[in-house]
Amino acid sequence: MTCRICDNSENNTTYQAREMMFGLRTTFTYFQCAACKCLQIAEIPADIASYYPQDYNGHVRPENNYYSGIKGKFRKKRFQSTLFTQDSFNQAFKAMFPAGQYEVLGMLSMHMHTRLLDMGCGTGGYSYPLYELGMKNVMGADPFIPATIVYPNGFRVQKSFIGDIEGQWDVIIYNHSFEHVPDPLDNLQAVEQLLAPEGTCVIRIPTVSSYAWEHYRTDWFQLDAPRHFFLHSTESIKVLAQKAGLELVDVVYDSTAAQFLHSEKYRQDIPLQEKQRRTFSTFFKRKYRKIKYSRQANKLNAENRGDQAAFLLKRKK
Ligand SMILES: [Zn+2]
Repeated sequence: MTCRICDNSENNTTYQAREMMFGLRTTFTYFQCAACKCLQIAEIPADIASYYPQDYNGHVRPENNYYSGIKGKFRKKRFQSTLFTQDSFNQAFKAMFPAGQYEVLGMLSMHMHTRLLDMGCGTGGYSYPLYELGMKNVMGADPFIPATIVYPNGFRVQKSFIGDIEGQWDVIIYNHSFEHVPDPLDNLQAVEQLLAPEGTCVIRIPTVSSYAWEHYRTDWFQLDAPRHFFLHSTESIKVLAQKAGLELVDVVYDSTAAQFLHSEKYRQDIPLQEKQRRTFSTFFKRKYRKIKYSRQANKLNAENRGDQAAFLLKRKK
């Protein structure tokens, strides 16, 4: 089997991974490249669309009134303090109510006019709040939604592949979508065309450069067969970036307790979506485990060994 990232075909290791999000337990062959370490599906299933049911994560629309009222104001404040402001009040607010999955965007010195493209965003739940905060140059795109969406507040999610996007963008983010893309190099070549000279491409993905992959192997829940085609390593992202005329400038690990909570379930043959019985004692046991695993995740992130990270790419100078 030849690596689709670096073309190496020697000493690659084969694994059999099962569909466990919905508990179908169908087996898929993956292999890890001995050279660039990228773990990849051997063959993309022809019926891949059938593995994305209606209630799949990215298919749920952000509620139109989610950011109104007192609760909505609080949510907005939380995102705002993570994304923009650095005075002491906002820093304290951010420390108390962190919005983890937006923290990497807070490192990019964004402002209200930043042109941000959220690629592969499903119905746009991740970047919808940015638009709500007043960032009117934020747009989502996804080739697999039924039709282009324009929300009542004006936020647009365009039905298109990245190759059909126009204009120049300061930030292009793949928020847990790049691992679903069958042609990652074509995507990065398009990014190179669309990125403003000082722009940044942010790729948030699960990574095999992690403790969770080493420890859980095919029970690692973020392998997510067969939906995740490529589980990248830091090396394989460097190879791809190089081929596309980009360079890797930073890696920010942002893993959570989920890497342990869900992978432990898979080890016991329990699907992700299976509802577990809740009692008074299981409630506290679960709370305790979550605190313990969150601490472990923070430690792994600090050691660059968490199971997901944001890879920051820039145009080659
Ligand atoms: Zn390779």
